[in-house]
Amino acid sequence: MCSPIVVSMGSTDVEVRRSHRRRRTVSAYRDNGRTIVLIPARFTKAEEQQWVATMVAKLAKGDKRRRPSDTELRARAAELSQRYLGGMAKPSSIRWVTNQNSRWGSCTPAEGTIRISARLKGMPGYVLDYVILHELAHLLAPGHGRQFWSLLTSYPRTERARGYLEGVASAAGLDLTDADQDEEALAPGQAALDVAAVD
Ligand SMILES: [Zn+2]
Repeated sequence: MCSPIVVSMGSTDVEVRRSHRRRRTVSAYRDNGRTIVLIPARFTKAEEQQWVATMVAKLAKGDKRRRPSDTELRARAAELSQRYLGGMAKPSSIRWVTNQNSRWGSCTPAEGTIRISARLKGMPGYVLDYVILHELAHLLAPGHGRQFWSLLTSYPRTERARGYLEGVASAAGLDLTDADQDEEALAPGQAALDVAAVD
């Protein structure tokens, strides 16, 4: 690997690393606010510039996807409802909240309102999608019974997302059980997705 070259693209510092082991793959990731782009050593300067621009745009798009605003959250919920729940779940509101420490999401089916923990921002898109879908499904099935889970079977990454959330909760040292222990404290008709992403 040659010495890295750092270029500035707008407000982003980009470090280009050329690798002799790479033949045709280009990859990029963030490291401490810097963007690292890995390219094959044989790339010309023009190819390098082209691929750096492509990868920076790709990462920016991913950032935006992972940190959607309330407006984007609404659009995403509508899309997920359409795709996985036949459009049946129609929340009256869905928004980010920062005051939920023990739940990834919560839902008041009687009012059709959904709140999503801002702690999910920055997590992979499929995890956020799962939490949105979980709360959407509560608009159709309040508890965590068979009917509820059957609504989520069409989403292929349910198990993977639940595993991810369990891992995050465990790494954060959160005290978990595998039951919705907080549900007693909720107002009647409220449902919550506990950090344990429970059954
Ligand atoms: Zn739930």
